[in-house]
Amino acid sequence: MEKGKIFLVGAGPGDPDLLTLRAARLIGSARLIVHDGLVDPEILEMARPDARLVSVAKSRARHTLPQDDINALLVREALAGNDVVRLKGGDPFVFGRGGEEMEEARAFGVRVEVVPGISAANGAAAAAQIPLTHRDHASIVSFVAGQCKGLAEQDWAGLAGKGRTLVIYMGVKTAPQIADKLMADGLAPDVPVAVIENAARPDMRVLRGLLAALPDLVEHEEVKSPALIVIGDVTAQVVAEGAKLAIGVEEQ
Ligand code: SAH
Repeated sequence: MEKGKIFLVGAGPGDPDLLTLRAARLIGSARLIVHDGLVDPEILEMARPDARLVSVAKSRARHTLPQDDINALLVREALAGNDVVRLKGGDPFVFGRGGEEMEEARAFGVRVEVVPGISAANGAAAAAQIPLTHRDHASIVSFVAGQCKGLAEQDWAGLAGKGRTLVIYMGVKTAPQIADKLMADGLAPDVPVAVIENAARPDMRVLRGLLAALPDLVEHEEVKSPALIVIGDVTAQVVAEGAKLAIGVEEQ
């Protein structure tokens, strides 16, 4: 029997209009879609009525399906001759564990195609009208993961500061440790920051403040995942008229 193929597909930050055409076509024609929790329901509605939709939703607190089981599921289906659309929030290769799924597929001789998506950083920057780079403010941008595991060991020295933009994924719960870590690395307490919650979704919020007040901002505004923390001067630029600002906490 001919093996199926695994498509690792980025679903972007939420809005179905931000899918690539390739992603939209694959979602619309797939018989089997294995998706994670960040994929917007509106995007799943684009699937054929007879498509099999399998959720492998993961959240920080609730690991419904460990990564090994997801890998095994994808490969099992492909070996049984089924094409699998593995749909992930954002881009599959930015904190998406796409690399592991690709390696597993290769180990079993299963073909893989990777379809890029708009990563949360790009989607959030556009929706909040915060440029990640700017001729006058930043010529370096870094993406880091802020979740608990390994946070203390990660070396972020030099990633934030003058002329730099730091984008932190998965940093809501650890905002206090993140602020401490950056200030311990020498970053000024009054570096401007923004928190972008539910970027590119109808309920997006953009909050602004200063680094030292980041933990209070997150707690006081009850910021929930998914949210990104952006650190650097680009976050303090004038908000363009018409920017979709639900709440603007100007200076703390
Ligand atoms: N592969 C994804 C990232 C997955 S990690 C991508 O490329 O975007 C999950 C983290 O992504 C969340 O904790 C959050 O920090 C960020 N994220 C994903 N979607 C988001 C959204 N719509 N708004 C803000 N942050 C988002």
